[in-house]
Amino acid sequence: MTELDQQVAERLAQVRDRISRAGGREVAILPVTKTFGIEACWAAHRAGCASVGENYAQELVAKLGGQQLPFGVHFIGQLQTNKVRSLVSVVTVYETVDRLSLVTELAKRAPGAAVLIQVAPASQEGKGGCPIVDVPALVDAAQAAGLDVRGLMTVGPTEGGPEAARLGFRATRSLLDRLGLSVLSMGMTDDLEVAVQEGSTQVRVGSALFGERPRLSTLVR
Ligand SMILES: *Cc1c(COP(=O)(O)O)cnc(C)c1O
Repeated sequence: MTELDQQVAERLAQVRDRISRAGGREVAILPVTKTFGIEACWAAHRAGCASVGENYAQELVAKLGGQQLPFGVHFIGQLQTNKVRSLVSVVTVYETVDRLSLVTELAKRAPGAAVLIQVAPASQEGKGGCPIVDVPALVDAAQAAGLDVRGLMTVGPTEGGPEAARLGFRATRSLLDRLGLSVLSMGMTDDLEVAVQEGSTQVRVGSALFGERPRLSTLVR
């Protein structure tokens, strides 16, 4: 066991504890390994996590591309259609499907791929996400294109503290139920309690597990 393995295992236990104190029962933890080296992915895997979350296509391919991996990779960053092709051999779930052009590209390059539709609650601008009123039509289109729509994903606001996320989270959960979908990816290090209280089934956790991220500007995107 490396030092990193030990750190990740301990911090995962702390995150599990936070989830259960917030009343979460079966909430999965997706360790977010963006900007951290491949050792972070392996440490999460060895600590029992089924998948990791990554944001940047180029970084991801450089880090994990071409290897046979015993864990899944969820793409959770803003996704450009021209990057899809480079990702199909690595990504197991696309969490940020938010527009028709992406549905079309994924259906072509990764037929039957598992996807979540990213929902943008009213407060979210410029971070991607499908406006909540347009989500049902996008779900229909993705299903009609043969994609495996497992559920919804959303990102809380960066300002205003955890409580600022609550109403958007609640609206996303109620949409999930109306659509009869089961997976809800919502909540990060700072707002996971609120997300769990509002019905998240998967939290995406980076800094609580791996510490502060290296600055992005120093990395290839
Ligand atoms: C970076 C990122 C996370 C993890 O953020 P932390 O605050 O480090 O837990 C979760 N979700 C998305 C979409 C991210 O970009």
